[in-house]
Amino acid sequence: MSSIGAKDKVRTGANFAIVEMGAVEDLDQYSVSKGDFLLKGKVFLREILDLTAMEVSMNKLAAGDGGRWKHCHVQNEEVYVFLDGKGQMQVDGEIFEVHSGTAVRVDVNGKRSIRNNSSDPLYYVCIQAKANSLQQCSWNDATFPKEKPEW
Ligand code: ZN
Repeated sequence: MSSIGAKDKVRTGANFAIVEMGAVEDLDQYSVSKGDFLLKGKVFLREILDLTAMEVSMNKLAAGDGGRWKHCHVQNEEVYVFLDGKGQMQVDGEIFEVHSGTAVRVDVNGKRSIRNNSSDPLYYVCIQAKANSLQQCSWNDATFPKEKPEW
């Protein structure tokens, strides 16, 4: 299934969009491509959920996969949040081990690459947003309507 196909499974309300992408173990049903690049086990959520300020990808990197190229960005910083498995990431040639609980911010110009050098899948989420664009967040951006939750 392509990520475009997933758009058919989106349910929306006035202020939300929700999609079930399937179990993370089955993320290899998705792939993205650009030119000669084909990335298996990756799905972007921006188009599916109509995100307006960020791109988010869900990723399953198979054992032994990845690490064949580096990439940078034009205006977006990224954070990689590793959820399960083990692997390695490098930024500007500096290599670090990544595993469940590792979060890595990479600046626009950081030359990054990820590889799964283990024998099990590596799962991570990558979020990208325009560097220096965040005006406020967390408690400073939250409001609390008086109603109780409906459940
Ligand atoms: Zn990127």
